[in-house]
Amino acid sequence: AAQAEDPYAAKRAAMIAAIEMDVRAGYGNLERDNLDKKVVKALAKVPRHEFVPKNLQYAAYENRPLPIGHGQTISQPYIVAIMTNLLQVEKNDRVLEIGTGSGYQIAVLAELVDKAYSIEIIEPLGKQTKTLLQRLGYNNIALKIGDGYYGWEEHAPFDAIIVTAAASHIPPPLIKQLKPGGRMVVPVGSRFMVQELLLVQKSDKGEISTRQLLPVGFVPLTGKH
Ligand code: SAM
Repeated sequence: AAQAEDPYAAKRAAMIAAIEMDVRAGYGNLERDNLDKKVVKALAKVPRHEFVPKNLQYAAYENRPLPIGHGQTISQPYIVAIMTNLLQVEKNDRVLEIGTGSGYQIAVLAELVDKAYSIEIIEPLGKQTKTLLQRLGYNNIALKIGDGYYGWEEHAPFDAIIVTAAASHIPPPLIKQLKPGGRMVVPVGSRFMVQELLLVQKSDKGEISTRQLLPVGFVPLTGKH
């Protein structure tokens, strides 16, 4: 539907304004104290209410995570915004997400790049999200059911990797699948407490550097690894 007919357009605009205020207030060491214009545009395009259960659509544009079934959550919009901003993606970049969940984060990324990849470990959730993304017309997203700890070798290397579940350590396969010059954001820490959001960068020579950015609270990265 055209923007003018979208009953959620005003709520979405208010959500973005609230996120931009939080980013400017500077929650620490985020490299930039403004959201990239194209990140703002992407957030304005994605209908977040489609990614939450019907009975929670009224809250879809509040700045908080929401339950999506299967014991999982759609992340807080502010966190989606800053993680997307940190990746600094360009149109031609290849992006990988671990933890598809509702599909909202990968939809935001798919507004910014030609081709996006995402892996979900819970099969029914992955299938449901695949159907949703197809219905919404996201033909540039490839989804896979599996353990994202191991990345997606066939499509590697990636310019950007985003992990949206809390890992106890940075998964080595993901470091391997990151392109020289690439960036990864990943929450690392204990399963039941606050984690640290890390920005991992691989230099053109392949050296890894890591920065702690801010405390976050994600559901755990599961799997047998
Ligand atoms: N990015 C999601 C969104 O936009 O809705 C939110 C992600 S939710 C906080 C974390 C997701 O990671 C859950 O759907 C969970 O099932 C998934 N997950 C957990 N461990 C995983 C793994 N090893 N591989 C792939 N997905 C995993």
